[in-house]
Amino acid sequence: MDRASRFSYQCMACGRCCRDKVITLSPYDVIRIAETAGVAPAAAIARYTIRRGSILSFAESGDCAALEGARCTVHRGRPLACRLYPLGLDRGPGGAENFRRLEPAPGSLGVYGESGSVQDFLDGQKVNEYLAANARYRPLVLLMRARIETLVDFETIEPREFWRRATREALAESNFDPNPLIDALFDPELLGCLRGTAAATLDAHLHALERRILAEDDADVIAAAAVMLAVSLGYSPGEVIGSR
Ligand code: SF4
Repeated sequence: MDRASRFSYQCMACGRCCRDKVITLSPYDVIRIAETAGVAPAAAIARYTIRRGSILSFAESGDCAALEGARCTVHRGRPLACRLYPLGLDRGPGGAENFRRLEPAPGSLGVYGESGSVQDFLDGQKVNEYLAANARYRPLVLLMRARIETLVDFETIEPREFWRRATREALAESNFDPNPLIDALFDPELLGCLRGTAAATLDAHLHALERRILAEDDADVIAAAAVMLAVSLGYSPGEVIGSR
């Protein structure tokens, strides 16, 4: 579906959609969750996420870490995926949008319809602010790739193996190597970028990350961070790997 396609959804606040999911978070999602929860990003990462801040945490019971009863405790700053739900967003070549209607969660009381358009739904969920923020992080993936090109001699190092290693490292659920760049992607405070509003934090974070990437000399650290950032923004690892 595209933005003009017919789609509507009435949420009945039953909380059933907030269970047993895998929800990828972007750096901006983490900024917003932390702001809404009134805690530092590091505390939000510890409380609400797994895999270094890149995935929303769900308890053994299946409940999202932010769910209390049927209520989302970070509703005002809920992540992009939760705003889009029950739509999925895939990215085609060049970042082209393709929206998918997701199946209802078991027992969900939400009502699907066609009384509006995808665009109307996105507007109601204030999705564009999140998409715009993510679009501002996207050039950092390209910057990381460019930085890697200056550090690695791909005449002597096999590029596919290099990127396979980076992907394994980025997507590991546990036992991953320390990566200060990935840490800085999800915790703007590590770069001294926490400001009074999410918008100001976002601005400062983007500039500081740019400087941090250019100062990083370890290509493996940058590559894992590039894959992590691409995936967190909704792109496939192949988008990074496929560049060579
Ligand atoms: S963050 Fe909120 S809306 Fe998203 S899954 Fe958790 S409880 Fe549900």
